[in-house]
Amino acid sequence: MQSQPEHITCLIIGSGPAGYTAAIYAARADLKPVLYTGLTPGGQLTETTEVDNFPGYPKGITGPILMEDLKAQAERFGTQVRFGMVTEADLNANPKRIWVDETTEITADTVVISTGASAKWLGLENETRLRMNAGGVSACAVCDGFFFKGLDVAIVGAGDTAAEEATYLSKLCKKVYMIVRRGEGEMRASKAMQHRVMNTPNIEILWDSETSDVLGKETVEGVIVKNSKTGESKTLNVTGFFVAIGHKPNTDIFKGQLTMDDLGYLQVVPGSSKTNIDGVFAVGDCADKTYRQAVTAAGSGCMGALDAERYLASAGVH
Ligand code: NDP
Repeated sequence: MQSQPEHITCLIIGSGPAGYTAAIYAARADLKPVLYTGLTPGGQLTETTEVDNFPGYPKGITGPILMEDLKAQAERFGTQVRFGMVTEADLNANPKRIWVDETTEITADTVVISTGASAKWLGLENETRLRMNAGGVSACAVCDGFFFKGLDVAIVGAGDTAAEEATYLSKLCKKVYMIVRRGEGEMRASKAMQHRVMNTPNIEILWDSETSDVLGKETVEGVIVKNSKTGESKTLNVTGFFVAIGHKPNTDIFKGQLTMDDLGYLQVVPGSSKTNIDGVFAVGDCADKTYRQAVTAAGSGCMGALDAERYLASAGVH
């Protein structure tokens, strides 16, 4: 049983680029930040291979090394990085009350939420295996499309993300198969995006289609697609498989306290990281359904720390 909860000036929840960047800035401002990593230290980037679009790495860098570097940079200025999952929060309390791993209570003057979002996957066994082995299964065309230059790929999904990513891939790849589970005319993407996809010659839309399996031992060698109307199956000879069936922001524990949109993305005052609760800031993918890039997450992490610093100064706490 804890007697007195530990008190923290600046608590950062989440260990992706947004969280670590917030930590770098908060530590340098002497806010003595404590960062809880969540269950996947390093976040989504630890599941990718090469990151070629993060500025400052002309030869590229792997996702795991980038995250180790960001962690080391945050620790260099005194951030305490702790493994643990924030499981409950009372953000309206003063100071804010947070529970880690359901047991440890802490209090905080400011909270920077950088809990990220998780890509949804189909859940096929080979999809998971090849994704984990960096074998050509990806949820981010902007990140990984480049590796399939001049090759054939498939993408599953029919929302704006899938349409946008299919268009992006069509500029790099020879052919893009778009696997849509609904019938023609029922695509979820906006009309403008649908038109763009349909008018791109090297995108072939497979309507009423479901992915039954991803083939390949080390890397993707094909995808089996079944037409739900005719029952027929066929193999697409592709070397890349992109999944764009939506993301889920990791914000469930803040429901009822923080303003979020209908998908669960935290809403902030435009041009800032301020949420509807004073002293609570949201940065990175948990508050961004549009860009979702490591560099935009890092940029917003910086904003979160600066907003926290200014809040503490105006409240006379720091
Ligand atoms: P959405 O939830 O809008 O779309 C997900 C798509 O994936 C749907 O077509 C859905 O099919 C399909 N899907 C879901 N599960 C499966 C499955 N198991 N098998 C096959 N297909 C599946 O997600 P998005 O990421 O596309 O978009 C999220 C939000 O972000 C939306 O509000 C979107 O408008 C917005 N956005 C805006 C952009 C812009 O304005 N430039 C760019 C990107 C996103 P079904 O339709 O059958 O349910």
